[in-house]
Amino acid sequence: MVNDLIIVGGGASGLCAAVYFKQKYPNSTVRILEALPRVGKKLALTGNGRCNITNKNINLSRYHGKDTEFCRYALDKYDVGFTKEFFEKIGVEIIFEEDKAYPSSFQASSVVDCLRFACDELGVITHTETPVTDIQISNGNYRVISNQMSFLSKNLIIATGGLAGGERLGCDGKMFNILKKADFKVAPQKPTIVQIKTETDIVKQLKGIKINAVAKLGSRSDFGEVLFCDYGLSGPAILQISREASYLDKPQITLDIIPDINFNELCELLTNRVNSLKERTLDEFFTGMLQKRVGQVLLKQIGCKLIEKVSTLDIKKIKALAAIMKKWEFAVTGTTGFSNAQATAGGLATKEFNNETMENKSTNNLYCIGEILDVDGDCGGFNLQWAWSSAFCAVDALRNV
Ligand SMILES: Cc1cc2nc3c(=O)[nH]c(=O)nc-3n(C[C@H](O)[C@H](O)[C@H](O)COP(=O)(O)OP(=O)(O)OC[C@H]3O[C@@H](n4cnc5c(N)ncnc54)[C@H](O)[C@@H]3O)c2cc1C
Repeated sequence: MVNDLIIVGGGASGLCAAVYFKQKYPNSTVRILEALPRVGKKLALTGNGRCNITNKNINLSRYHGKDTEFCRYALDKYDVGFTKEFFEKIGVEIIFEEDKAYPSSFQASSVVDCLRFACDELGVITHTETPVTDIQISNGNYRVISNQMSFLSKNLIIATGGLAGGERLGCDGKMFNILKKADFKVAPQKPTIVQIKTETDIVKQLKGIKINAVAKLGSRSDFGEVLFCDYGLSGPAILQISREASYLDKPQITLDIIPDINFNELCELLTNRVNSLKERTLDEFFTGMLQKRVGQVLLKQIGCKLIEKVSTLDIKKIKALAAIMKKWEFAVTGTTGFSNAQATAGGLATKEFNNETMENKSTNNLYCIGEILDVDGDCGGFNLQWAWSSAFCAVDALRNV
């Protein structure tokens, strides 16, 4: 039997494509071939289990890759409104927390459930524990091979994701090897939206402490929570700037832990504190202004002994303290890797695909969607929106149904 459509990968983009396809072509046959024992495993973990499903401010500046223009058509045509309507139709009510959109259940698993229910209701055939190991062309159709089985299809959508999350989430990279053998070009893949490893002498002393700071790395900066860990830095502001860690030579993160005032104002504030608190010992100098251990580590960094009196802080030391507080430097030694990353920078070269259809330019009726392509978005719902938009785009472009 020749199917109308086979979708390899039952993750975010694959499930979305299957449902949208059957809504459009109710009498057609579509199969999802998924390697893991269940579909949507990664989707069920998104947004800390809440699923940050999209963002009010979808625009190209939030996307990265060799050619971000590639995304424009799909993101513009299948925008947040289109996505919201699609999800509401299958039972997912969407609400916004500032710019970020979530299912109103705040349960990522419920998004997977609604996609699964829609697949069942519409007659999508799902094969789990079916890792695709080869793809061949046979009499103008695709022969998709898994274990001892093979499936024929007129159209093929590959939605196997990137490497983020690692093997436990089905992202083992094997599909890239299959496609590379067929001469598909792959831009080097790097983990992004990921924790950063740094030199550990300072961070280890502050392990477990969270502060708010402006974090900068290369051309990226973000204000938000930063978490000190024994291996380096984590927290939303760090994840947001982490992409640069894999691309810069000798990367360095800087933290501005007092972002509301400038260097001179900070010197003045510290001088006033010295004048008012001069009888205290230095270990209490920052009490009431900074997290206590953070203050103590800063003082030690400029060579002070904590048992000394606050009055020992002269203008030179005050300036040295203010300089670190405005630009606390952490040499980056790496990231915690794909198994901890939320997205993959790099992937299939987009120049080999039609941006209005997601179809491969040299292989008719073969489409690639979602994170497998060299497109990655910022943290905040941008990656899932790409998964949805590219899925809608490919399905609407199918000619051979
Ligand atoms: C912990 C975590 C939290 C995240 N939170 C958010 C968030 O809140 N908002 C957001 O926008 N993005 C988030 N992301 C990113 C987002 O989940 C991904 O960008 C998105 O899931 C990509 O969709 P996809 O369909 O391309 O790939 P995936 O969802 O990864 O699906 C790919 C599927 O293909 C299957 N597969 C792989 N190889 C084969 C094969 N050979 N044969 C058959 N099946 C195969 C896999 O098992 C998997 O089920 C998060 C990611 C992680 C890891």
